[in-house]
Amino acid sequence: EYSLEGKRVWVAGHRGMVGGAIVRQLQARGLTVLTAPREACDLRDAAAVARWMEANRPDTVVIAAAKVGGILANDTYPVDFLQDNLLIQTNIIRSSFANDVEKLLFLGSSCIYPKFADQPITEDSLLTGPLEPTNEWYAIAKIAGIKLAQAYVKQYGCRYISAMPTNLYGPGDNFDLTSSHVIPALMRKAHQARVDGAAGFEVWGSGTPRREFLHVDDLARACVFLLEHYEGFEHINIGSGTDLPIRDLALEIARVVGCGEALTFDSTKPDGTPRKLMSNARIAALGWTPEIPLKDGLASTYQWFLEHADALP
Ligand code: GDP
Repeated sequence: EYSLEGKRVWVAGHRGMVGGAIVRQLQARGLTVLTAPREACDLRDAAAVARWMEANRPDTVVIAAAKVGGILANDTYPVDFLQDNLLIQTNIIRSSFANDVEKLLFLGSSCIYPKFADQPITEDSLLTGPLEPTNEWYAIAKIAGIKLAQAYVKQYGCRYISAMPTNLYGPGDNFDLTSSHVIPALMRKAHQARVDGAAGFEVWGSGTPRREFLHVDDLARACVFLLEHYEGFEHINIGSGTDLPIRDLALEIARVVGCGEALTFDSTKPDGTPRKLMSNARIAALGWTPEIPLKDGLASTYQWFLEHADALP
């Protein structure tokens, strides 16, 4: 058990969807949240991170900072996904140790697991088979992050933990069609179809891969829960417990947006891994469960999109 009461918590990556949601969750608890302005602190720069850490001395650190992107971006910019993520996480973990941070949470992703892992994917299937090639760059960096946190636990007895969220969505997501994940991409295309009065919109791949989705506010609650209640050496999954085919997701989005439901499938785009459903058994046993059903989460995310559409890139 670790109490966050009175602690100064640094959320690295506060401008992203995940970091932003964790900041909101911590602030709702009345906690002091520290954030590093991007201009003053490039997290890929070891000296900049060390300087920021020494000047701000957080008690607790959450690593929500990462170079992230959808299936196409991962495949197109392998250096950025591998190198930037290795630098960001190593700089933060190393300077957390140097500055006596009491507790640290490292966030990864479900893509760390083997492409053909047994479903639902349990934590111990890590490193039991080859990765999905479209995102192995990102996955290798995240696996290195888990191992580095574990190495500090093993060598120095640090209280560093790692959590692996499933595919996330929600307010503050990236809605850029070339770099985004599937939910914001399809929502934007569905919205455009509604505006244009089109019969439907285009879905990448075959529509048959299955994916699990978790609302980012559920993820943020889980992160705060784990900071206070998890001390395990192994990383821990955070999922919603259910998945669905991309085709069904697209139809659900069409209904939420109110556009035509005639879907076309672009087979020149990759499908990625056939299925990626995580086991939630370990975190459920600790007493955490998700609260936001996909339908409700999609509706509120579309509301957010409508309110911010003018300002999106
Ligand atoms: P992944 O979970 O790492 O594969 O990441 P994504 O969220 O980018 O893609 C999930 C699935 O949705 C893949 O099978 C994609 O081919 C499919 N998909 C369908 N339409 C789209 C789209 O417009 N954008 C993205 N990013 N994926 C799409």
